[in-house]
Amino acid sequence: MRCSSSMNSKDKKGIYVHIPFCKSKCHYCDFCSVVPSGDIIDRYVDALKREAEGYKRKNKIKADTVYFGGGTPSFIGAERLSDILLHLRKVFDISPDAEITAECNPSSCGGDFFSRLIDSGFNRISLGLQSADPRERKAIGRLTDADAAKQAALNAKKAGFNNISLDLMLGLPFQNTESLKNSIDFCADAGVTHVSAYILKAEEGTPFYEKLSIEGAKKMNLPDEDAVCDLYLFAAEYLQEKGFEQYEISNFCKKGHISRHNYKYWNLDEYIGLGVSAHSFFEGKRFFNTRDIDEYIKGSKPIPDGSGGDFEEYLMLRLRLAEGLIRHDTERRFGKGCFEKVLDKAKKYKGTNLLNISEDSISLTKQGFLVSNTIIAELSS
Ligand code: SF4
Repeated sequence: MRCSSSMNSKDKKGIYVHIPFCKSKCHYCDFCSVVPSGDIIDRYVDALKREAEGYKRKNKIKADTVYFGGGTPSFIGAERLSDILLHLRKVFDISPDAEITAECNPSSCGGDFFSRLIDSGFNRISLGLQSADPRERKAIGRLTDADAAKQAALNAKKAGFNNISLDLMLGLPFQNTESLKNSIDFCADAGVTHVSAYILKAEEGTPFYEKLSIEGAKKMNLPDEDAVCDLYLFAAEYLQEKGFEQYEISNFCKKGHISRHNYKYWNLDEYIGLGVSAHSFFEGKRFFNTRDIDEYIKGSKPIPDGSGGDFEEYLMLRLRLAEGLIRHDTERRFGKGCFEKVLDKAKKYKGTNLLNISEDSISLTKQGFLVSNTIIAELSS
């Protein structure tokens, strides 16, 4: 499907900063993260600053979201995080009302961690919970007990954060709707404004994958595919009951608290990724950094990943959002005709419970999200 974009490249960017350090490695994790030794953290922070310098312009690049992800950003401490943010402010023109998020692990955000972050301009926290059930937590190698996450959310609030997200996982060993309900109640009781709920995937090369290959899903008490679908639909319904609107396949929030940074990815807006393994979409080009931390510190160059921003990408990303593909926005960015073509193809789904279709928008239903890959492939063919 050929449609060309008239996207305004002067839009404010998002900035992603990858912090690849963790206290220990979770069994299922294939994110780029290591347990650090020696002075690697400080050498890495210096390399991050050097990479940021490469974006220095006479007219600074404008940004309105900054997201520290990982790994475990909180693991490197409030002082280093604040120092990096200060450096980014020197290089980029970061809006006064920018959303500035740090992913935190409850085990590394004690003491005055949150007040120091808020003093340096952070205004959003994302905490890893995964599950409130001790048996499920143990099965995926989570070290702390769930109450530490609740305490961390309360401490963050006390320090002045009013935008806090908790991460949940679906399809964990031993998980059922009852234990999932408890985990969701736990999030609601912690008073957070945002919940992410991702389905567990066995990624090749992780201890979890190895164990699954040897023991099989049954022995590991993993729910089967149908049960995972049920867990997903239950989570979507019950989170809504608890006041969290679904705005993306795996993301739910209280009114006005979408992740502005992540929304940029789904809206095909541009972002700059700093740090090892970070991906960027900048000035119409996609590129990414090495996953090798030593290589990154030595100053390895980003790897080109082709041009980005075409209509297929836009369609695929927008259909992850509950608001879906909107005629007005699509025609503004890609001209007349594209929306109409998708609408024609979407009509075959009329009468199913998979797509919401009107003359002005096309979006997936909760059931549709479960088969999103198939539907998106058909609509974009
Ligand atoms: S804390 Fe997060 S990034 Fe670190 S090992 Fe666990 S899942 Fe991976």
